[in-house]
Amino acid sequence: MHIYDYIIIGSGLTGLSIAKKISQETSNILILEAEACAGGISRSVVMNDHKLNNGLRFFPANEISKRALDFLNEIVEQNVASESSENLIETYEASGFKRFVGFGDKSPEFYEQLSYFLTADEFKLQLQPYEWIQILATQLQDKIQTKSIVTRLGFEGLDSEKPSLTHVIVNGSKNIYARNFIYAGPVKDLGLLIPDDVLNARAKAKLKKAKAWQSVGLDLIHSVPCEKTNLLVLNGTTDDDIGPCVGRFIGSTSQWMSFIDSESAEDTENIGLVLKKMKRQVKRAFPEKADTIIKERVSVSPVLSGAELKLNANGTIPKVENLWIASAQVNPYQNLLGALMQAKFILSSLGFAAEDLAIETTIPEEAADAEPV
Ligand SMILES: Cc1cc2nc3c(=O)[nH]c(=O)nc-3n(C[C@H](O)[C@H](O)[C@H](O)COP(=O)(O)OP(=O)(O)OC[C@H]3O[C@@H](n4cnc5c(N)ncnc54)[C@H](O)[C@@H]3O)c2cc1C
Repeated sequence: MHIYDYIIIGSGLTGLSIAKKISQETSNILILEAEACAGGISRSVVMNDHKLNNGLRFFPANEISKRALDFLNEIVEQNVASESSENLIETYEASGFKRFVGFGDKSPEFYEQLSYFLTADEFKLQLQPYEWIQILATQLQDKIQTKSIVTRLGFEGLDSEKPSLTHVIVNGSKNIYARNFIYAGPVKDLGLLIPDDVLNARAKAKLKKAKAWQSVGLDLIHSVPCEKTNLLVLNGTTDDDIGPCVGRFIGSTSQWMSFIDSESAEDTENIGLVLKKMKRQVKRAFPEKADTIIKERVSVSPVLSGAELKLNANGTIPKVENLWIASAQVNPYQNLLGALMQAKFILSSLGFAAEDLAIETTIPEEAADAEPV
């Protein structure tokens, strides 16, 4: 029976970043990925023969993101971003485009998800997130096993104080053994993967109950490019629960994003309503572009947030010493930044990274207090 040093569950940015660093010390690792290809949310999509990010991508410029990008540069062995530049966010009103100054007393329910985009500065990315993934997935290709859904975590000594995680069960039947396990998939799923003796019913109920957001993405290819390339927050005129969308043009492509809570997302009609509103918002701001759309792509992300899970200070699950939770969803930043920060944190817990790589466990004051521009 083969025993891996590390099994990494999930090949999104978090899982691949961790795997890359660990693979420099041991080649006895395995990355298990449920889908047919690696990359998770950050993999590329192809529209009109062009590779694109899987939806709108943005990287705020502040001290924390700079540290996260330094880590990423080291991992992908390339310089990912250039200097920061001002994030000149605009919105559209009947009189035309004007500087976005906030939502006033009409903040959308998913304001926290949006606030990530509303920073004063952003990093211009020289390499797009889908390219980070491509580089990492190519470098790690012999370690990634796709179409392999971890359906259960297998423990020994379940009735003892410290049960030991010994293997994962893949696709319902195959046992794969390792000494250490790093989980980089959706945190809510841990409720299904871990037996009640390890994660009790109360903890599972909390995980299930936490309000979770999913993004709804609308990617459009236009026949003509748009000169306006700054970030836009489109709020429209209807005062409903659906709320605004955020997006931007990059040449002839425009990518827009809004959010829906996962309970509402269970009914596809609700997703349809969000999309309808997003299209109306884009059409209202760019009426001349309405006839130039030659291709459209809609995406609904897996759950991006809503993980209430108590972890040990080193990122392991209470009672289990060899299961590290690396998912961005347990980080204060539930995005690319969070993915990199959580990867850094887990690596430093495991002793693979410098001490500087410990993360703040709460959002620092300057970020928490930051007003939208
Ligand atoms: C449309 C959209 C736009 C976004 N825009 C931005 C942005 O502009 N800026 C930003 O910072 N962030 C953005 N984000 C968020 C960011 O992309 C994610 O937070 C980040 O990519 C999460 O990475 P991850 O590796 O933790 O998770 P994921 O990318 O979700 O990867 C998890 C992987 O685990 C696999 N998996 C899950 N369960 C199992 C299992 N049981 N067995 C095996 N494999 C499993 C999945 O298939 C997946 O490949 C956006 C997200 C979306 C959806």
